[in-house]
Amino acid sequence: MSKPHILMPGRMMDLVVQRLDDAFTLHKLWEAEDQEAAIAAVADKVEGIATGGHRRVDGDFMSRFPNLKIVSNFGVGYDTVDAAWAGKHGIYVTNTPDVLTDEVADTTLGLLLMTVRQLSETERYLRAGRWEKEGAFPLTQNTLRERKVGILGLGRIGKAIAHRLEAFGSPIAYHGRNKQSDVPYRYYDNLVEMARDVDILISVAPGGASTHHLISTDVFNALGPQGVLINVGRGSVVDEQALIAALKEERLFSAGLDVFEHEPKVPAELMAMERVVLLPHVGSASIHTRNLMGQLVVDNITSFFEKGKPLTPVAETPVS
Ligand code: NDP
Repeated sequence: MSKPHILMPGRMMDLVVQRLDDAFTLHKLWEAEDQEAAIAAVADKVEGIATGGHRRVDGDFMSRFPNLKIVSNFGVGYDTVDAAWAGKHGIYVTNTPDVLTDEVADTTLGLLLMTVRQLSETERYLRAGRWEKEGAFPLTQNTLRERKVGILGLGRIGKAIAHRLEAFGSPIAYHGRNKQSDVPYRYYDNLVEMARDVDILISVAPGGASTHHLISTDVFNALGPQGVLINVGRGSVVDEQALIAALKEERLFSAGLDVFEHEPKVPAELMAMERVVLLPHVGSASIHTRNLMGQLVVDNITSFFEKGKPLTPVAETPVS
């Protein structure tokens, strides 16, 4: 029996490429000189797509593969795949939840401390020899002590962040579309109201149309001049130009960002701000966790072709 054909639009980590190559007929689209011709040559055969978000897997793209049955996405966020379109057309979309939750929560706490206590800036100060020449770094204006934290998106990762913050003794509130009955934290059905009541806003909400620019001027103004924004969710959730304006005008104290609107481009204005902490989307980026995510991309495809069902289909998928 011939192996099912899987298309990989952009190069993914070696583990995924090798394991899919071993078990399936893998078409490495990024290697083709003429990608349009390469797609046309295999369009009827392709039953699965493995994607790491290099290219949008939208309705137009998926409709070119009449026998497509599954799109396996690397990452828990799948905003580069039109899962609603796939769902309507009976195509499974899978992501890689849970295996990255603790890693991303750890990174978030690191970013939070770096931002609130200006740790990047203090290290730059030391490395520039300024400690020896100029004396101690000025005391930081901000602290995690006696500060309230609001979480936008209390899902898997949001809860793991909250759990860690409990150990820090931080009062926690959250905003999402739904109040959750099984958490002890205060719920706000309005993001601006929550921002008014907290000092630090951590965003770990997914990207996509429903969260686009959810965090903008009104939220920054509600957080206020001592307020801090941490974004580890998706860059599109934050209105970057409004953030730059709020920071410049000192309506917001600082920001710690792991994600940006137009990655890997980061606005020069943010780069120039000493106090702001900027990470190159490394929330889950350890070898340990990325291997687990890669294996889950493979396992979803394998499970679908062996058992008829993937392991971690997203909500929009037609689960039978
Ligand atoms: P979950 O689906 O478990 O949680 C998402 C949360 O967001 C839910 O609590 C949901 O609550 C809330 N949410 C969704 N839509 C909206 C909306 N329109 N308005 C307000 N709240 C909303 O996902 P995970 O916790 O596993 O992952 C969250 C996100 O983190 C991913 O989608 C991804 O974008 C990002 N991420 C970033 C990484 C990095 O490297 N920086 C790594 C991994 C993930 P409700 O349904 O009640 O609204």
